[in-house]
Order: sequence, then structure tokens, then C-alpha cells
Amino acid sequence: QHPIIAKKEVTQYILKRFGIHMNKKLGQNFLIDEEIITGIVEAAEITSDDVVLEIGPGIGTLTQGLLETGAQVYAVEIDKNLLPVLEHTLEGYENLQIINADILKTDIKELIGNRPFKVVANLPYYITTPIIMALLEEALPITKLVTMVQKEVAQRMAAAPGNKIYGALSVAVQYYSRPEIAFTVPPNSFMPPPEVDSAVIVCDIYNDKPVKPIDDKIFFQVVKAAFGQRRKTLTNSLGLLGLPKEEVRELLAQAQIDAKRRGETLSLQEFKILADILAQKNE
Ligand code: SAM
Repeated sequence: QHPIIAKKEVTQYILKRFGIHMNKKLGQNFLIDEEIITGIVEAAEITSDDVVLEIGPGIGTLTQGLLETGAQVYAVEIDKNLLPVLEHTLEGYENLQIINADILKTDIKELIGNRPFKVVANLPYYITTPIIMALLEEALPITKLVTMVQKEVAQRMAAAPGNKIYGALSVAVQYYSRPEIAFTVPPNSFMPPPEVDSAVIVCDIYNDKPVKPIDDKIFFQVVKAAFGQRRKTLTNSLGLLGLPKEEVRELLAQAQIDAKRRGETLSLQEFKILADILAQKNE
């Protein structure tokens, strides 16, 4: 009985009726393509048993697709101007809770409790990486993270070692999850159209991480140093760890990693080996 929101005319009508001017600073590009909504819900494999956290429901376009599955949805929207809109467009859905807050300042544990949940979002592009990193690092019981991001960001998240775009974000995402790009989305699926292509990326969060460093802080320090000066060989870039060159050479020799290699060629396992040697030294 709810009309579908993911249409150009419906979105235009809602915006006009509520006098909403889209806020570019908040990354407001609303989906107007029904097929994309279906694609996201399917990629996330949402069923009525799921608990879903949606970041940035906007006027409720994707939220509606999620709610129609019968899943329990928590939707966190920063823009209070959109609250009356959401109350109208999603009126009558009993499986919804709307929270007016900044996702980066929301206590998700307190909101959802200890139940496993999925994150599904068409993310605001100005804070994609901070949001994804915060969700991954908080050790929340997330099973799947399905997000619409800039295509280039999705490619970086999924990049393999040796690829030019493989970097600290790739390592971090792949440390916690198995990322896979589900499909790409052109600018005209949004209103207003963003200046970049987009992609939906599915990150299946590991229950049991394939790489388990002794100390994950040291692991990420090594990653940060290795990518801190991308053009440099590991002998030079790992100097950022505060070790004298001689010790860096020794560390690489002990790890059996060629000192002339660059950070962007190291696998997660190789980062772990380096981090574990350092961790053992500190003991
Ligand atoms: N889900 C809607 C859709 O797909 O059409 C809107 C997506 S729009 C790309 C991003 C949404 O995130 C906007 O509604 C924006 O107001 C909201 N947003 C931006 N920053 C936020 C933050 N820090 N916390 C929560 N929501 C935020």
C-alpha cells in the first residue's frame, strides 16, 4: 500500500511537498532507481530474520526496500529536516526505528544490543572511509556490510597486493572482511547525479580472521608506515616506525622479504610476519 519512493517523479514530489533542498555538504544524493534498491537488498541477502542498520536513510528510499523484507531496521539520519519526511514516507511500517543522529557519534551497541546485524547504506561520500573504518574497528557483531560508495573507493577496498590502488584501506577492509564488488551504478540513478560513478560493495565480515597478528596495533602501525611513502622501498618506508635503517634491514631479512619491495606488494600475511617479529622484540 506504500507507493515506491525510488522514482524520479515521486522523489521530486516529496521534496517539493516538504520544501526540502538537498544538502550537498551532507552527501545527499538520493536513489531514484528501483532496480538498484532491489539489487542492494538482494546483495545483502536480507530476510525477515535480519536486523539491519541503515546509515543515512534520506527520504526513505532504500529503507523502504529493506522494510519490505520484514527485517528489523534501525535507520540513523543526521539531517533533522528529513525526519518529518521519513515519518510520512515510511508511516505504518512497524519494523522501523528512526534515530536522528550522527552515525559517528552513535552508540551502536546500545542501540542494537548484542544481536548480530547487517549494515546496509548508500553512504554519504564525504565520510565513507571514516564510517567504514569505525564500523569495522569497533568489533560490533556485524555479519555483512553492504554499501554504496564511489566506484574508485570500492575498487581500492577490494584491490589485491601488487595492484597500484592497493593501500592501507585495502588492507584494513581485507583484515576484517572479504570484500566483493556486487555491481556498479551510474550517476543518473541518483538525484542529483553525483560527479562520479558508484558501486555497491559487499563485505562479508570474518568470524574467524584468516590473519591473526600477535598485536593488531603493531600490525596497523607497520601497514601505515609501509604505505606512508608509497614510492619508497620498504627499507626506507619502514623507517617511519622509528627504527634505524640497520634494524629495518634486519627485520626484513628475518621476515624473508626483499628489502627493495614496496609496501603495495605485501600481502596481509607478510604484514603479519613483520608485525609479529616487532611484537616479539617488544616483549
Ligand atoms: N538512503 C538514501 C538513498 O539511498 O536515497 C540517501 C542516501 S544519501 C547518499 C546519504 C544520506 O546520509 C543523506 O540522507 C545524509 O543526510 C545522511 N548523512 C550524512 N552524514 C551523516 C552522518 N554523519 N550520520 C548519519 N547520516 C548522515
